[in-house]
Amino acid sequence: MSAALDGTAPTQGERGAVVIGAGFGGIALAIRLQAAGIETVLVEKRDRPGGRAYVYEDAGYTFDAGPTVITDPTAIEELFVAAGRPMSDYVTLLPVSPFYRLCWEDGRFFDYVNDQAELDRQIAEFAPQDVEGYRRFLAYSREVFREGYEKLGTVPFLSFRDMVRAGPQLARLGAWKSVHAKVAEFISDEHLRQTFSFHSLLVGGNPFATSSIYALIHALERKWGVWFAKGGTGALVEGLVKLFTDIGGRIELSAEVAEIETASGRASAVRLKDGRRFPAEMVASNADVVHTYGDLLSATKRGESEAARLKKKRFSMSLFVIYFGLKTHRPDIRHHTVCFGARYRELISEIFNGSDLPGDFSLYLHNPCVTDPSLAPEGAGAFYVLSPVPHLGNADIDWESEGPRYRDRILAYLEERYIPGLRADLATCRIFTPADFKSELNAHLGSAFSLDPVLTQSAWFRPHNRDDRIGNLYLVGAGTHPGAGVPGVIGSAKATAGLMIADGARAI
Ligand SMILES: Cc1cc2nc3c(=O)[nH]c(=O)nc-3n(C[C@H](O)[C@H](O)[C@H](O)COP(=O)(O)OP(=O)(O)OC[C@H]3O[C@@H](n4cnc5c(N)ncnc54)[C@H](O)[C@@H]3O)c2cc1C
Repeated sequence: MSAALDGTAPTQGERGAVVIGAGFGGIALAIRLQAAGIETVLVEKRDRPGGRAYVYEDAGYTFDAGPTVITDPTAIEELFVAAGRPMSDYVTLLPVSPFYRLCWEDGRFFDYVNDQAELDRQIAEFAPQDVEGYRRFLAYSREVFREGYEKLGTVPFLSFRDMVRAGPQLARLGAWKSVHAKVAEFISDEHLRQTFSFHSLLVGGNPFATSSIYALIHALERKWGVWFAKGGTGALVEGLVKLFTDIGGRIELSAEVAEIETASGRASAVRLKDGRRFPAEMVASNADVVHTYGDLLSATKRGESEAARLKKKRFSMSLFVIYFGLKTHRPDIRHHTVCFGARYRELISEIFNGSDLPGDFSLYLHNPCVTDPSLAPEGAGAFYVLSPVPHLGNADIDWESEGPRYRDRILAYLEERYIPGLRADLATCRIFTPADFKSELNAHLGSAFSLDPVLTQSAWFRPHNRDDRIGNLYLVGAGTHPGAGVPGVIGSAKATAGLMIADGARAI
């Protein structure tokens, strides 16, 4: 049976797969399947691919909606190698330095660069004793990177045995401790503790609760650097989609799935809201995991019970994002700037557990035009700023009315501390709220990163890359192993593709 439109002559091969959702995970999986000879159709609800990495274009400005910090370029390159095409024909990655500028309200800042001498110099300015502590932290981070990312990041955890096998390494690395607690073992200065622990927030993890395994992000950045795609992350998405279609894959946009049909306990087809139907040998979902089980499989017992189980899990925070174009370019603002507020631990606790919008904020500010001026009209600047906020399950905020108020507070704060004259210089501005994560991306509780990546919701404890009951149904993306972030979901695609290709071969 092929993954072709029902009623039309099959345009794809004998062993078809349908991938639901064209986020980075879905696209990467589709490329791997198609490259392995499995005819694949990618169906995406929105009018453009990318998912969290959608693109908005307003008045000559180009805004990447989500991921901007591209790490582990080798994971992206592997997709081109698998497809037998040179990456340079599709995508250009530009190095970013500093990786981030971290700023505090006391006026201090830290340029997080990939130069040991410069790092040592800045660390010594904050706390001379932490230079040695940092070296020990880096050694720890590199070890976790080898165990957690290189060995386990792209292998599926399907049975508890897989978890038990990884247990000794996890125990030896102190995986039950939080990222912040581990950093604090090596580093005494509070600014520096924040500098080396905030990374888990990039994948939706609370540094005070997420496993110290996530300290590996530091080693990953030091090893391969931080990159930005020429033309923006959207250009990377486009390059990957072109790669997929160039090798024979087919993508359907504005194609929202209503149901994953099953027959005799197996996924048999994907039905769209507009009535189109795609029969398939294998189905993989890159959509939100609760949406996948609770909505797309609601007609099945498995869907009902798994959705009920998942709804009891802890979900990661949401985000409030403002995309704004300025008439003038601001080269003094670094490409990636983290603006820490006055509170760190307390604020993060309120973001993850609080029942209301905190009164203060910590922000991430994106100024891509310092790396690629083509994203705005000549002499202008395309920015976004994001504020982590509680998800809708914790704080049921009416974002319709709160959104514009919250936007104005953030813009006033940025104008006062980082971008003088911001509001008078605005050319365009739009917001994306937790309510939009829910309605646009079908994200449970409007979470920006799916399940909270605490240890008890990681690896085998996370929804599995292949469903335990429906043998030809697979998951890919932030909700499955290893988790959120671009390298994470591309890693999940490798794990899921390995299963699908092996299962497909067995079925012949
Ligand atoms: C603002 C923001 C900034 C971020 N910054 C970074 C960063 O700098 N670096 C980094 O590594 N990570 C970052 N992340 C995290 C990263 O973007 C995500 O973890 C990752 O992109 C998620 O990819 P995914 O494959 O899980 O799919 P998603 O991007 O979640 O895509 C899922 C797709 O499924 C589609 N879909 C849902 N339901 C249906 C349906 N019924 N039918 C058809 N399609 C459906 C959706 O429309 C969507 O396109 C950021 C996230 C956000 C929100």
